[in-house]
Amino acid sequence: MIDKIRAALAEYWGYRSFRPLQPEAMTSLAGGRDTLVVLPTGAGKSLCFQVPAVTMPGLAVVVCPLISLMKDQVDALTECGVAAARLDSSLTVAEREDVFCKIQNRELKLLYCAPERLMNDGFAETLRSADVSFIAVDEAHCVSMWGHDFRPEYRQLGRLKQVFSGVPIGAYTATATDQVRQDIAEQLCLSNPEVLIGSFDRPNLIYKVQRLRDRVKQVCQVLDRHQGESGIIYCIRRKEVDQLSAVLAARGHRVAAYHAGLPAEERKRSQDRFIGEEVDIIVATVAFGMGIDKSNVRYVVHTGMPKSLEHYQQESGRAGRDGLEAECCLFYGGADYHTWKRFAAELPEEARKVSIDKLNQMFGFCTGGTCRHQEILAYFGQSLDKDDCGACDVCLGQLECVENGHEITQKIVSCVLRLGEQYGAGYTAQVLVGSRDKRILESRHDLLSTYGLLDDFEKRHVHDWIEQLVGQGYLAKTGEFNVLCVTHKGASALKGLEQPRLLQVLKKAVKQSRVVQDSWEGVDRQLFETLRKLRSSLAAKKRVPAYVVFGDAALRDMARRRPSGPDRFLEVKGVGRKKCQQYGEVMLETIHSYCAEQGVGMDVDLETSAPR
Ligand code: ADP
Ligand code: MG
Repeated sequence: MIDKIRAALAEYWGYRSFRPLQPEAMTSLAGGRDTLVVLPTGAGKSLCFQVPAVTMPGLAVVVCPLISLMKDQVDALTECGVAAARLDSSLTVAEREDVFCKIQNRELKLLYCAPERLMNDGFAETLRSADVSFIAVDEAHCVSMWGHDFRPEYRQLGRLKQVFSGVPIGAYTATATDQVRQDIAEQLCLSNPEVLIGSFDRPNLIYKVQRLRDRVKQVCQVLDRHQGESGIIYCIRRKEVDQLSAVLAARGHRVAAYHAGLPAEERKRSQDRFIGEEVDIIVATVAFGMGIDKSNVRYVVHTGMPKSLEHYQQESGRAGRDGLEAECCLFYGGADYHTWKRFAAELPEEARKVSIDKLNQMFGFCTGGTCRHQEILAYFGQSLDKDDCGACDVCLGQLECVENGHEITQKIVSCVLRLGEQYGAGYTAQVLVGSRDKRILESRHDLLSTYGLLDDFEKRHVHDWIEQLVGQGYLAKTGEFNVLCVTHKGASALKGLEQPRLLQVLKKAVKQSRVVQDSWEGVDRQLFETLRKLRSSLAAKKRVPAYVVFGDAALRDMARRRPSGPDRFLEVKGVGRKKCQQYGEVMLETIHSYCAEQGVGMDVDLETSAPR
């Protein structure tokens, strides 16, 4: 069975190796067993059911929550030469009839549809007569009320086992919590399922966390590193989306805006322009993202702190689905903490406690200064099997531990006490750096013994440290105005019984990330850019997203191998038979003329040093 699967993977998708747990997931389903697969975004869950669909007799039905997701996957399958179709409310009558015809003639290997359609009696009858090989439930966490995307229509899927008796079910999700996993198996009535849970680490994501100071400036620094590449910028508020997208557009960036306050029409247009690469950047609230399978998102920026690490993992996880390096920058502020806390305050007691715990963990992540990959995994109850992830600001040496951090802590803590635990972080920082601000002079706080104790430092650094001390539990923010007070742990630090660590951001990373080095290894960048332009024009002609024609990983591999003929072209990762037939000629022509012009060699042999 595995040989057949391997052959299909190479022929249709052009991949010669599996990602972790893919072979297990594919053989389990192809062997007729209910299978629950939990893998992070970008791990390659779709192939876990798409490949068996090709190798098994009959028609595989895929349940999918959003039309945009169905469309994307069906486009991608068609480009690979797999017979796939979707049935959704956006089709014309003629298109729908065409699909029904194909089902009856048994011409399809995969059919995508929404849950309510699948559970419709008449439709189920039609399908049964077409010999269903299995049913795949994508984004399966939508069935669970405990998940972050519960969809009532998914609940009907509980009847799948009755309606399609004997047909195996595959369920796929990136949701890492145990409660949701169990709920999925229960709700779908899976019988003795094979449960496959992978590592939640995303080694190709490079996490960087800093306090937000100047939204536009900090965002533009990220954009400078990613000219012409696709990225998502998240803001907490709609107003911020409107403002930031306007500023970026005025500065000449190709940008679209997305939030729930915009008319549906406009939202859809923004999303389409981003997917179709008419714009590089989308500025959005978290309303944007589900249903985005765009594989070449090279950065995700948060200009505010999400309310939990689960949310952060979800949102930042939309970067780098293709496995290539991608940057996730989080700019947090103390004010975000207050915002979420205010929201939490309105919840019933139990929920409030959970929310505030999650919020504190999130804030601790921002201010803590331990390996970001490590921290995220620990949150999900997993651990990293290496000390240095090589892909976060901490491990890349971009954060420096401040010398005599415990002395500075003592000064901060005693200043908070001198201020009678009645002032916020900004004010306290001002007193510590010896500001001549009117408020301070009027309150005569310039006479405090702690006034100006940290006048060697800039106010923004002192403010950073105060937030770090809150995140590490030495200080707490209380009451309506979030005044600082000293915790038990803070009192111990004052006595010198604790060793707090304070961090400071260096301008440049000390080390270059390994992830970046590896994925560009041997790639002729100029050729890559040339091929990228060609890809855009091919995609525009076919009216499909660029990454559906070829992923970035495939383009880089072409620019690395520089194949001279179809046989060598087929060796490129992500080039299957159909893509070779369809695009081989035009791609090869471009590669030939580039290599001739630049005088560079072709057919580079990589077998000795193949990355990934
Ligand atoms: P998920 O649904 O888990 O978020 P996808 O199925 O969308 O992930 O896959 C993410 C990317 O990984 C896609 O671009 C896909 O082509 C690629 N991919 C999947 N499996 C492999 C593989 N075995 N080798 C190389 N690339 C793969
Ligand atoms: Mg998926």
